[in-house]
Amino acid sequence: MAAPGADRLAARWAPRPGAGTLRPAGYPRTMENTPRPVLVVDFGAQYAQLIARRVRELQLYSEIVPHSASVSELLARDPVAIILSGGPASVYAADAPGVDPALFGTDVPVFGICYGFQAMARALGGTVAQTGRREFGGTPLLVDAPGAVLADLPAEQSVWMSHNDAVTAAPDGFAVTARSAGAPVAAFEDTARRLAGVQFHPEVAHTPHGQDVLRRFLYDVAGLTPNWTTGSVIDDQVAAIRAQVGDAAVLCALSGGVDSAVAAALVHEAVGDQLTCVFVDHGLLRAGEAEQVERDYVAATGIKLKVVDAAETFLSQLAGVTDPEQKRKIIGREFIRTFEAAAREVAAVEGVQFLVQGTLYPDVVESGGGTGTANIKSHHNVGGLPDDLAFTLVEPLRTLFKDEVRAIGAELGLPTEMVQRHPFPGPGLAIRIIGAVTPERLTMLRAADLIAREELTAAGLDGAIWQFPVVLLADVRSVGVQGDGRTYGHPVVLRPVVSEDAMTADWAKLPYDVLARISTRITNEVPEVNRVTLDITSKPPGTIEWE
Ligand code: GLN
Repeated sequence: MAAPGADRLAARWAPRPGAGTLRPAGYPRTMENTPRPVLVVDFGAQYAQLIARRVRELQLYSEIVPHSASVSELLARDPVAIILSGGPASVYAADAPGVDPALFGTDVPVFGICYGFQAMARALGGTVAQTGRREFGGTPLLVDAPGAVLADLPAEQSVWMSHNDAVTAAPDGFAVTARSAGAPVAAFEDTARRLAGVQFHPEVAHTPHGQDVLRRFLYDVAGLTPNWTTGSVIDDQVAAIRAQVGDAAVLCALSGGVDSAVAAALVHEAVGDQLTCVFVDHGLLRAGEAEQVERDYVAATGIKLKVVDAAETFLSQLAGVTDPEQKRKIIGREFIRTFEAAAREVAAVEGVQFLVQGTLYPDVVESGGGTGTANIKSHHNVGGLPDDLAFTLVEPLRTLFKDEVRAIGAELGLPTEMVQRHPFPGPGLAIRIIGAVTPERLTMLRAADLIAREELTAAGLDGAIWQFPVVLLADVRSVGVQGDGRTYGHPVVLRPVVSEDAMTADWAKLPYDVLARISTRITNEVPEVNRVTLDITSKPPGTIEWE
């Protein structure tokens, strides 16, 4: 039987067609000019990306690699340390992904987490078995002899566990430092060889001292010193962009979102006026967003910006359309058409060879790597540019997580509202108006949406919410009473959600008083709206957006 999750893993790491020509498929470094990495070997963990993020929070550069990487492939990345992640398999199952014992003779410090800990134990001659006491969730950890990794941490602490199997005997030379009811060996270390591991998950927030554990291993046992700060990332990326682009002209489509704004700002930092940005205002943005790009962003960066006001075209194409897929198609098509025309104009003047895209590291991991440069013919972010406009991509964010992108944006002095912005769909408010899109309805929704955003910000809750669509049920009417008179207005739906990655989401339990303020203000200040409702559906089954 194949190890559980093997298919999903294989799919995740399958090389993209055409990618990886410079290095073995699936294992390219994400970008030149990055520091030596702490490699996270992914055994199909729920949390591989989270581990890499935690390492980066310790100011150490980290990359994720598939467990199928051989020792020599790992060493080819020149790692300063290696972390073996958790995973769904049992180490003693027939085709469980293993760890080559040769890894432990390379002098690279190695830390094992959960499955990685068990695999390490087994590879070095320890034993792993089912103790009959599985542990899931918060679990008391008893520290018998703290050693280096658990030094100065409470003798009894809660850790997050998720395991069926346990290490029952540590390999020779390892000190057992802690246990739990279901894990007789819950942590071990051999500091002379700079090897250690834990059965619990230090990377999750439910393990209160988890970050201390990682810090002690990486700083104290492995002896690493920070090499990854916002400033160093900017310097490294600026150098890499200059090396890639030379003195050629570069184009970037700004969406108003965080990623394209920060990507463009980095490129501008590197090559200044060689960059031209194009902003297509489709008239479906929220209150203040077009101004943020046209005025505040340009003022903050000095970027050369071409604004295409295409609101009228988009609205006339959308007239009378109620079907969500139709709306999305029309907007996608018009966007490409408009951007293409602008790109041609800019290219004719500037001789553009490069196109900036805000691809993030999670996209790179999910698609199995990438070489950093690819000649695009069909490209999903900008979409459908014709063959005679083939640019080479510049992707300065492809080593970065979203929170790092935000930190860099702040450091580059971008407007806070832009840097902290929640994700917003490309088709904009058109898919938050249930019914046909008209200028009047856009005005109504903009007003209601602004109130919700203002109150969320005033309550200090922006960071707690992933996304907060406000939806206008434009084809629904509802009876109300306002000023002793009957009204017949429209309902709006509040759809605040929490999420890690938008793949799944839950409705956000906003405080009642915040919801009450939003409701009162919307019905008072937006004359056509006389009812405010709250969407309490998780995803699945409901998507975050209504259309
Ligand atoms: N599959 C292993 C177990 O159940 C490891 C689990 C994990 O890595 N979370 O013990």
